[in-house]
Amino acid sequence: MKNSLMVLLLSPGLLIAAAHAQDKKGTTVAPAITDTAKKKPASITDKVKSCRKYDGLFTLYQDTANGTVQLYVKKSQLGKEYIYQSFSINGPNQLYLNQSMHRATMIFKIEKAFDKLEFSRVNTRFWYDPHNPVSKTAMVDKPEAVFLVEKTVSEDADGYLISADGLFISEKLDPVKPLLPPGIPPTAIFNLGSLNPAKSRYTTLRSFPNNSDIVVDLAYDNPMPFNSGTTDITDARYVRVRMQHSLIEMPKNDFRARRDDPRVGYFSQMVNDQTSISPVPFKDIIHRWDLKKKDPNAALSEPVEPIVYWIENTTPVEYRQTIIDAGLKWNEAFEKAGFKNAVQMKIMPDDADWDPADIRYNVIRWVSSASPTYGAIGPSFVNPKTGQIIGADITIEWYSGSATPILDELFKSAAATGNLQLPGLDAQHEAYCSLANELKSQFLTGSTVLDASNASTADLVEMHKQFLTYLIMHEMGHTLGLNHNMKSSQMLSPAEVNNTELTHKIGLIGSVMDYPAINIALDRSKQGDYYTTKAGPYDLWAIEYGYTPFNEGEEVAGLKNIIARSTDPKLAFGNDGDDMRAPGKAMDPRVNINELTSDAIGYAEDRFKIVNQVMGKLVQKYTKEGQSYAELRTRYGTLLGQRFSMASAVSRYVGGIYIDRSFPEQKSANKPYTPVPLATQKRAIDVLSKYIFAPDAFDADAQVFPYMQPQRRGFTQNVVGDDFKATENILAVQTGSTLSHLLHGATLQRITNSRLYGNQYSVASLMGDLQKGIFNADISTNVNVYRQNLQTYYVRQLVSMVDPKNQQFDDVSKGAALYTLKKIKTQLATAVSTNDETKAHRANLLFLIQNGLEPK
Ligand SMILES: [Zn+2]
Repeated sequence: MKNSLMVLLLSPGLLIAAAHAQDKKGTTVAPAITDTAKKKPASITDKVKSCRKYDGLFTLYQDTANGTVQLYVKKSQLGKEYIYQSFSINGPNQLYLNQSMHRATMIFKIEKAFDKLEFSRVNTRFWYDPHNPVSKTAMVDKPEAVFLVEKTVSEDADGYLISADGLFISEKLDPVKPLLPPGIPPTAIFNLGSLNPAKSRYTTLRSFPNNSDIVVDLAYDNPMPFNSGTTDITDARYVRVRMQHSLIEMPKNDFRARRDDPRVGYFSQMVNDQTSISPVPFKDIIHRWDLKKKDPNAALSEPVEPIVYWIENTTPVEYRQTIIDAGLKWNEAFEKAGFKNAVQMKIMPDDADWDPADIRYNVIRWVSSASPTYGAIGPSFVNPKTGQIIGADITIEWYSGSATPILDELFKSAAATGNLQLPGLDAQHEAYCSLANELKSQFLTGSTVLDASNASTADLVEMHKQFLTYLIMHEMGHTLGLNHNMKSSQMLSPAEVNNTELTHKIGLIGSVMDYPAINIALDRSKQGDYYTTKAGPYDLWAIEYGYTPFNEGEEVAGLKNIIARSTDPKLAFGNDGDDMRAPGKAMDPRVNINELTSDAIGYAEDRFKIVNQVMGKLVQKYTKEGQSYAELRTRYGTLLGQRFSMASAVSRYVGGIYIDRSFPEQKSANKPYTPVPLATQKRAIDVLSKYIFAPDAFDADAQVFPYMQPQRRGFTQNVVGDDFKATENILAVQTGSTLSHLLHGATLQRITNSRLYGNQYSVASLMGDLQKGIFNADISTNVNVYRQNLQTYYVRQLVSMVDPKNQQFDDVSKGAALYTLKKIKTQLATAVSTNDETKAHRANLLFLIQNGLEPK
C-alpha cells in the first residue's frame, strides 16, 4: 500500500491517481514516503497504470486522461538499428505537407548512457570490406548525430520507460518546416511560425510486430504572419500539421542489394567503398521490391509476395477500371524478369477497417486539393541499407475543372517555389514528380484541339482515358524504383508516331517515365494514340535489370548481359540530372520534357502550326451560354504554354551535345560527347525565328484578346488590373526559357568549348543569326509592339554582357556581344519608319547601345 501511495504522489500529472490519493490522506506520512522514494523508484507498472497499452515493435503507453505517451524500450533493442520514416497527412500544400508525402527516411539507434536513452541517426553512406583491416576505422571521422536524449522515468528487468513527447511532439525526427535561404523576404512564402507543444497532440497510435506508427497533430503559431497562404489556410496564425512517425524493424530476410548502373534509371542509395583502391569506388544500390519466385526453377513464376496496390475508396467509380488496367500493364515488364502476376490491383472496400496511412498497405490515393502543387506523386520508402522498397503510395491530385490559372503555373509558380528547401527530405525522395502538371497542360491542349476540330465526346473520353492510364503507369513506375527517362520520347520518327499498329505493339515512346508532349497530328485524319498506353521497351528492360533473380555468383555476369543492350536506341535513357528544362543547365537536347519524336524540331514546328490554326476557333468554341469567358482565357493560356514549351525544346539544340552513356566494351558508334551538327543548330534558330521571333508570329492571337476576361469573384481583381497582359506573356514565350537559354553564360561557354571537339557553330555566328531573326524582317518598316519588346530585350542582354563588371560571361561571349551591338547600331542607321512609335523605339535602342559601348 505504501508503495502505491508513493507512486501516486510522485505522478501529479495523473488526475485519477491524484483524486484517489485524497482518500488516503488521513495520516500524513510525506517525509517517510520521500525517503522511500529515493531508495526505490516507481515501477513501470505504476507509471503506466492509467494508460492504454499499444503492444508491438515498440510498446507505447498513452495516458487515457491527458493523452501523453510513454515509450518502452527493451534492453534487447538498445544498439539495434531501426528505420524511421515520416509522412505528412494534412498540412499546407505549398509547404509539401499534404497527404501521403513521404518525408524523412533514416536509420536510427537507441543507446543507454547513465540514466538516459540517446537517440542517434546512423550514417549509411560508407561500406567497408570486413576482411580489410581498414574496416576497423569504420566509425572514425564520422561524428555521431544524436538528436534526442531523454531521461528514463522507470525501468524493469527487460527495459526502460521514457516520455515520448520529446520525440514525437517535436521536430527532432523530421524538421517539418522548409528553410528559407538568406535574402528571401519573409513575405515570399507561407511561414508556419513556431511549434506549440501545448496545443499539439497524439491522434492515432498503431503498433504491430514489425512497425509502430505514431500520428500526431503538431500545432504551429505565428502571431504575425506576413504571408497568409493559399485558400487551404483557414487562419495563417494557427495551423495544425498532421504527421505520421513510423518506426520500422529492419527487414529480416535474404534480400540482396542490387548495384546501380548509370545506363538505367533507378532511384538509388549512394555508397562509397572505403576499403577500395579503385578510381570508381562506388557501391551504389538501387531501390527495388523484394520479389522472390514461388518456383525458383520456373522460367516464369508467381512471386512469393506480389506487389499489391489498393485503390482508395475515395476514387471516382468511373476511373477505377482504368486505374486497375493501367497498373496491371506493368506485369508485362515483370514477365521479362521472370515473374507472373507480380503486380496486383485491388479496390479498398468502403467498409475497410484499415487506414490508408497504415504503412503495410500501398495505396493509390485520390484527393482534391485547394492548391495542387504536384498533381501526382509516386513515392516509396526503402531500407537505406539495402535499397529494399518497404512501402509505396501514389497520390493523384484532382484539379477542379479547367478554370485553373494555367498562365500563372507556367510563368510564375516555378519562380515562387524554386527557393524552397525541404530539409526533411532525403535527396532520393526529393524527386517530386510534376508530371500531372505538365500532363494536364498537354491534355488541355489536346482537348482544345479536339474541340476545335469538332471531335466527338467519345474521342475526348478516349483521350482522357489514355491520359489517366499514362499518369498511373508513370507514378507506379516510380514506386517500383524507376526514376525519370526524359530521353524516351524520341523513340519513334514523326512518320511512325501515329501508326497505331506499331504503337500498340511497342509503345508510342520508349518509357512511361517521361514527360512527353501529347501526340496530336497536324493532319487530324492521321491521328493515332495521344499517349502511350503500355510499358515501353526501356521499361521492360529496366524492370528486367532490377528484378531478374540471380543465384549468388551469377548476378554480376547476368546484369552485365542485360545492361550490354543499353546501346539499342529504343533503350535510350537520360533522367532529370541531364534534362534540359532549366536554361543553361544540361547538354543533350534529346533529354527533355514536352517534346516528341526523333525529330523534335519538326514536331514542334507542327505544333506551332496547330496552335495558330486552333487560335482562330477559340472565341467561337468557348463563347458559351451561361458561363463567363474564364474558360476561354484558360484555353488560350494553354496554347500559349505550348508555344513556350516547344520553343524551349527547340532552343536546346543550339549548343547542344549528344550524350552516349555506354561503356567502352559496348563499342558504341558514338563518342560519349558529340556536338549537335551545325545544320541542326541552324534549323533550330530558323524555326524559332519563324514561329516566335517573326513580326507576324502572334498575329493569330489578337482576335482573342478582347474576350480574355476572367470571372470576377467578389473584389478579386488584382492590383494591376485583370486585363490580359499580352506583351508581358508573349515576351515570356520568347525569352523565359528560349533566349534566356541561348544567351546563358553556361550555354555560350559550352558552345565555345565544344568548338574544340567538333561543334561548328560559334558564339559570334549564333548572335549574328539571332540579330537576323530579331531585326531583319522589320528594319525597313514600322516595328510592332512584340518586336519592340524583343529587340529591346536582346540589346539589353548584349549590353549587360559587355559590362566589365558582369562576370557571368567568358571573354569570347563578351567579344561577340560587343561585335553584335556594333552591327545592330550600323543596321539601325539604315532603318526606315513612318511612325513616331517606331522612331521612339529605335531611339531607345541606340541610347541603350551608346550607353553600353561607352566606358563607365
Ligand atoms: Zn515522375
